[in-house]
Amino acid sequence: MEGTRLQSKLPSVGTTIFTVMSKLAADTGAINLSQGYPDFNCDPALIDAVARHMREGRNQYAPMQGVPALRRAIAEKFAALYGAAYNEDTEVTVTSCGTEAIFDSVAAVVQPGDEVIVFEPCYDSYVPAVELSGGRAVVVSLRYPDYSVPWDEVRAAITPRTRMLIFNSPHNPTATILRESDMKELIRVLEGSDALILSDEVYEHIIFDEARHQSMALYEPLRARSFIVGSFGKTYHATGWKIGYTVAPAALSAEFRKVHQFVTFSTNTPMQYALAEFLSAARGYPELPAFYGRKRDLFLRLIAKSRFTPLPSRGTYFQLLDYSAITDEEDMTFALRLTREHGVASIPTSAFLYNQKAPKVLRFCFAKKDETLEEAASRLVKL
Ligand code: GLN
Repeated sequence: MEGTRLQSKLPSVGTTIFTVMSKLAADTGAINLSQGYPDFNCDPALIDAVARHMREGRNQYAPMQGVPALRRAIAEKFAALYGAAYNEDTEVTVTSCGTEAIFDSVAAVVQPGDEVIVFEPCYDSYVPAVELSGGRAVVVSLRYPDYSVPWDEVRAAITPRTRMLIFNSPHNPTATILRESDMKELIRVLEGSDALILSDEVYEHIIFDEARHQSMALYEPLRARSFIVGSFGKTYHATGWKIGYTVAPAALSAEFRKVHQFVTFSTNTPMQYALAEFLSAARGYPELPAFYGRKRDLFLRLIAKSRFTPLPSRGTYFQLLDYSAITDEEDMTFALRLTREHGVASIPTSAFLYNQKAPKVLRFCFAKKDETLEEAASRLVKL
């Protein structure tokens, strides 16, 4: 455009690492363990339910807040699992995926000059959302290699300008989880502050080794200041459906909906009806810890003789592998070479880092058929 000078609002942002690595995997024919999604289908009964609702004519706009039956099922799930009472009419909103829910939560409350505390490695959509609202991301580094939260640094980072802290547990990309002791610490750290919380809990049902998911909804002092984001894509093996939700106290939900209604207005109608049936019957999610725990263990067994060293994966469908015994290359360099020369695509954690130097680890997604994991492992053990 001659004569106009376009100034990017996100000058340091390129195409997301997930798009880059999935495209490279497709172009090179590599096994794609990069972007997090299953290579197996969702429950055929769920597809049948969507088709039934489409045939029965539920094909027009859903209510802006979400289909009532789905909002009710979400509220009932929070009551059953976390003992938290959310009003289905005023405190639950269905969104067109977790990413939209994250964006809307930030846009609803972050004002120019506000500070938002994020933890690196940090999911790649958080900081751009903050910056588009004129906020400033204050990056606190999780402590490698256990990626624990440095609570003394969090305490020091909180100022009167802190509008929000963004948490994610189970955590992408590190596969760590918040513990009860973290939640107690967080309650203490926030005493006297009116900072809000955005809690990305999209992997809440994928948690291993009998651990209990530490939802912000479990603790009233945290629940009262939290936007909690969930996702049906992860829970129902249907990441392409792009349906998620936010629960938050009524005053926060009201602001959230002001944004949501002008970002997507409402979300896919027949899929909401189908998901409501499954969720209200507690179908699909109770078996996920065993289902994905077995896949994690299979993947680890298959690569046990390789020169990769696994870090503990306590939740999500991701596994970090330390490759320092194989090469000194930077993680992006090695990830590209691993894809092109050895036919396995992964995600470098440098894509999630702002201040810290990337450790020699790559993220592998094990939400794959056993035969996919077997073939990928047979390539990894050769390095
Ligand atoms: N959350 C997915 C992952 O971490 C990717 C989602 C996306 O590509 N936007 O792999």
